[in-house]
Amino acid sequence: MSERRLVLVVEDNEANQMLARAVLEREGYEVEVAGSPTEARGHLSERVPDLILMDVQLPGQDGLSFTRDLKASAATSEIPIVALTAHAMRGDREVAIRAGCIGYIAKPIDTRTFGEQVREFLEPSHREFDVKRSASA
Ligand code: MN
Repeated sequence: MSERRLVLVVEDNEANQMLARAVLEREGYEVEVAGSPTEARGHLSERVPDLILMDVQLPGQDGLSFTRDLKASAATSEIPIVALTAHAMRGDREVAIRAGCIGYIAKPIDTRTFGEQVREFLEPSHREFDVKRSASA
């Protein structure tokens, strides 16, 4: 069996950290949690994750600004990033895509669907679909 895939969750809310970790570990993923961009940089210097879930509102630097930094750096530019946004409004997806995300998951986290949502972003077919969509947007 191949090595378990690693998801880095950048999220400052403790309840969401716990929910995300519980659901993703149950799905068979390895999970690392960072409460801020600074903490996330520490994790990223150790190991490159297969996916980053990025809360938009973070202490210090907001998640979309941090996403732009990661996309601008050769060491992290290839990591797919999915925004976690509390405002599931029209236009949010476009804002997240412009920052370099491949999509977003609306909060509050729904434990019944969250695992599947994350799995879809980790599957290449879905990723290609998203890249195509963003390229034509
Ligand atoms: Mn937050």
